[in-house]
Amino acid sequence: MIDHVDVLIVGGGPVGATLALALKASGLQVMVLEARHDFSRKPDPRTLALSYGSKLILERMGIWSALPQPTSIETIHISHEGGLGRSVLSAEQEGIPALGYVVNYAALDQALHEALLQSNVHYLTGAQVTQTRATQSYAVADFDFQGASHQVTARLLALADGGRNQSGVSGAERHVRDYRQTAVVAQVKTELPHKQVAYERFTPDGPVALLPSGDGFALVWTATPEAAEAILQLDDTAFMHRLHAHFGDRLGGFVQAGHRASFPLSLSYTKPVTGPRKVALGNAAQMLHPVAGQGFNLGLRDAWELATEILHVSPSNIGSAEMLAHYSSKRRMDTAGGILFTDALVRVFSNDNPLLHHSRGAALIGLDLLPPLKSLVARKMIFGARG
Ligand SMILES: Cc1cc2nc3c(=O)[nH]c(=O)nc-3n(C[C@H](O)[C@H](O)[C@H](O)COP(=O)(O)OP(=O)(O)OC[C@H]3O[C@@H](n4cnc5c(N)ncnc54)[C@H](O)[C@@H]3O)c2cc1C
Repeated sequence: MIDHVDVLIVGGGPVGATLALALKASGLQVMVLEARHDFSRKPDPRTLALSYGSKLILERMGIWSALPQPTSIETIHISHEGGLGRSVLSAEQEGIPALGYVVNYAALDQALHEALLQSNVHYLTGAQVTQTRATQSYAVADFDFQGASHQVTARLLALADGGRNQSGVSGAERHVRDYRQTAVVAQVKTELPHKQVAYERFTPDGPVALLPSGDGFALVWTATPEAAEAILQLDDTAFMHRLHAHFGDRLGGFVQAGHRASFPLSLSYTKPVTGPRKVALGNAAQMLHPVAGQGFNLGLRDAWELATEILHVSPSNIGSAEMLAHYSSKRRMDTAGGILFTDALVRVFSNDNPLLHHSRGAALIGLDLLPPLKSLVARKMIFGARG
């Protein structure tokens, strides 16, 4: 087995896989260590709203065409429970074909997995990294694979493990804010068709999103952990009635509900994201509330910009302090913008403070009446902070 590479990627989730594929034609030695075995890849029930900018990245990597029928979002309708004020963002006003696309997480994961298997990347599945460390000249990872312990060194170690391991970047801290919210996800169908409209409705318990997906919607229903547990226990009919009462009558009743799954929600981020010979990206760098569908979009931009940085330096400078400083300064604004934007949405819109109630309605009306501001919000959601 190879024991030294240029770039070692810990975690072959969507972000780690994207980074590896963006480097596949570089002539560099790239290795991905992924803990999941091929046979233990459980279908993840999440759907992801990908921005138009993310579509462009996946297209350039040849992944987009492998995704089965992404559903386009042409309009986003934002409202809040129990008050006036709403805002509508539209692709037509922004002069682009769609504000975003809804894809199935499992399909994206599978397409990236297949592309890695067919590439020249050293891709090991069932490889669990147990420890990482770094010197000024290289990083080291210990990992278990096929019942034996192994070690590999690299000029640069890219940590894309979803933030699961605490042994990340030397000297960095992981900051965590528990929102005490859980997302319940499911595929649902409504009496009225979606017409490519995504709905985001803010309620005191948390936001509820309906994203157009195929001929139905992908639901992300945020609630307190206790309420989410109760929602999971309901039978389908009671679940659809509860959802109708919560979401309102905009789409008529709910007529079909698929399997439900839940995800606990928090904000957590690593600071700084770089240390000697190491960099954290994707959820290992920042895990966001799904309120504005920013998490993977941000992680994809991390992967794309890191690949660009690696391709711009000479091989001997990969993982150098200068390269990492340049990368982190380029990513700082986008990352901070994503964290602040989603955290503010959760904190301002997900509570029953009466003072904030009126300001929320006013904010949505204001957003709707000020096209430049609306355009700014739309661009931020489509291309990130520098959009
Ligand atoms: C309910 C919900 C809805 C969401 N909706 C959206 C959305 O609409 N749009 C959007 O952009 N984002 C969304 N997100 C966020 C998105 O899912 C994440 O940002 C994205 O999955 C992060 O990808 P990642 O590759 O960084 O991490 P992960 O997907 O967590 O992948 C990490 C990988 O590392 C591997 N790994 C972990 N530890 C080790 C180890 N020790 N050794 C080897 N391998 C290891 C794991 O097996 C895994 O494959 C949503 C999230 C949730 C919870």
